[in-house]
Amino acid sequence: MEEYTSCHWLQHGLSFENDHIEMCCLCCHKGGGKLHIKENYNGKGLDWDDIFALKDKYIDDNKNGIIDPRCEGCFNLVHRYWQNDEEHFINYIHFNHWTHCNCDCIYCYTSWDKVNFQKRPHYKVFPMIKELFKRKLFRDGGEVTFAGGEPTILNEFEDLTNFLVKQKEVKRITVHSSGIKYSKAIENGIKAGKLSVCLSPDSGTRETYKKVKRVDKFNKVWENIAKYASTKLVQEPQNPYYTKVETKFILIPEVNTTKNEIDNWLELSIKAGIKSIVIDVEDVYCKKILAEDKEMPDYLVELSKYIVQRAKELNLNLVQYNNFCYLTTKYCIE
Ligand code: SF4
Ligand code: SF4
Repeated sequence: MEEYTSCHWLQHGLSFENDHIEMCCLCCHKGGGKLHIKENYNGKGLDWDDIFALKDKYIDDNKNGIIDPRCEGCFNLVHRYWQNDEEHFINYIHFNHWTHCNCDCIYCYTSWDKVNFQKRPHYKVFPMIKELFKRKLFRDGGEVTFAGGEPTILNEFEDLTNFLVKQKEVKRITVHSSGIKYSKAIENGIKAGKLSVCLSPDSGTRETYKKVKRVDKFNKVWENIAKYASTKLVQEPQNPYYTKVETKFILIPEVNTTKNEIDNWLELSIKAGIKSIVIDVEDVYCKKILAEDKEMPDYLVELSKYIVQRAKELNLNLVQYNNFCYLTTKYCIE
C-alpha cells in the first residue's frame, strides 16, 4: 500500500466516448476532465499494454504529487492508501456513445446540432468487451455504467447487457435511459439484483415534460417506470448500493424549477413504487455560474433545500449527481 492522491477511475477506469476513449466521464469540475486514453477509436482491437502504460504514467505522477490540472476540483480525487497493484486491471467502465436518442432534451448538448447527432456512426463495443473478459482483465467487484445518448435503442444493447449481467465479476450495472423504450435486458438485470436503471422524466407534468424533452412521451415513460419498478428480483441485490429503479430530475432554471413540478414528480415516483431519486442541475448553467464566479440564485438554493427535506420526509433515497452535489456542499444543505 502506498499513500498518495489519486482516483479510482484514473487507476482502473475506461470511458468509451463517441470517437475516443477517456479515463472517466467527469467534466463539470474546475479542471474539466477529459484525460484521453485513445483518440479516433472506432471499436477495433485495443492495445491493452499501451492503455495500462498510460495509466501507469499518470499514477506515477500522482505518487510524485504531480496532479494533472484537468483533475483539479474533481471529487473523485482523494488522498488515501492505494493498493500497489503489480497486476493491471479494469474495474470501472462507462459507455457514453452519444449517437442517437429517442428524445430531444433542451439541456442536452446534442440539441445544438440534433440532425447531425442522429446521423453519427456508432461503433460496436461488444466484441472488445468480450475480449476484456476473456483476457480476465476485468476484476471482481467491478461496475459498468451506460449513459449519454439513449443506450436502449442501440443494436447491441440487449446482447451486451445480457452478457454483462451474466459475468460474475460485474457487481453493479447502471443504465441511464430516457425510459421511452422498454428493455427486456434491463428487466433481466433487475431480476438478477445487479442492474439499476435511472429514468429521466425531468418533470412532474406532461406540459413541462414536452417543454424539456420535446417529445410527447410523458405517459409512456411513467408506464415504463412502473413496469421496471414492479419487476421482482429473483436474486438478492449484489451490491450494497443497489437501487433497482430511480427517477431523475435535472433542474433547469426557469423551466422546471417550481415546487409544483417537484411535488408532482415525487408523487408520481412514489405511486410507481420508486424508492430512490436522482437530482442534478443543468450543466451549462452551472458552468456559466462557475466561470463568472457568481452565486446560485436564492430560489434555486431554496428549492434544493426543499428537495432534500421532502426526500427525507418521504423516506426516499436521494442520489445527488455532480452539480447538485456541488450546490448542496457550497450552501451547506443537509
Ligand atoms: S480525478 Fe476526476 S477528472 Fe481526474 S481521472 Fe479521476 S474522475 Fe477523471
Ligand atoms: S435523453 Fe440523454 S441523450 Fe437523449 S436528448 Fe436527453 S440528455 Fe440527450
